[in-house]
Amino acid sequence: MLAAAASLAAVVAVSPAPAAGAPQTARANLFGASLAPGTAGLTPQLAIAYTAAYRSARSAGIPMYINSGKRSRAEQAALWRQGIAEYGSAAAARRWVLPPDESTHVSGQAVDIGPQAGAGWLQANGIRWGLCRTFDNEWWHFELAAVPGTKCPPRLPDASRR
Ligand SMILES: [Zn+2]
Repeated sequence: MLAAAASLAAVVAVSPAPAAGAPQTARANLFGASLAPGTAGLTPQLAIAYTAAYRSARSAGIPMYINSGKRSRAEQAALWRQGIAEYGSAAAARRWVLPPDESTHVSGQAVDIGPQAGAGWLQANGIRWGLCRTFDNEWWHFELAAVPGTKCPPRLPDASRR
């Protein structure tokens, strides 16, 4: 017991202490490994769930990446204006894009996944981490929507029905 305590003390003693005022360079990580690319700005729960799914997909040889995760209000506002111009009205645009106050991308609670093979894999397996496709018209859009290992809620036809 004493020997173990002494060893631990030795390990602690040789570990370099962070320099005062050192920049916070440590990237958030999960069990010692970096979070998946594209997860910056997501809620911690989504970043961790997606990272676990991403690693599982990668180890199964499935390509997967985040096309769009966290968006700023300004980015979402630009997409919203573009959507209104493209679809002709706010009502029509809402099927595909929501204003900043309503978008789950702005709140860090959604990821758009590519390529389609990766999204398909996530649709089939994401419930293991609580990740669910939420809209019929967007095969790429996923959110944490269920307790891991249970069942995803029924999909909504599109974002305007939320
Ligand atoms: Zn989306």
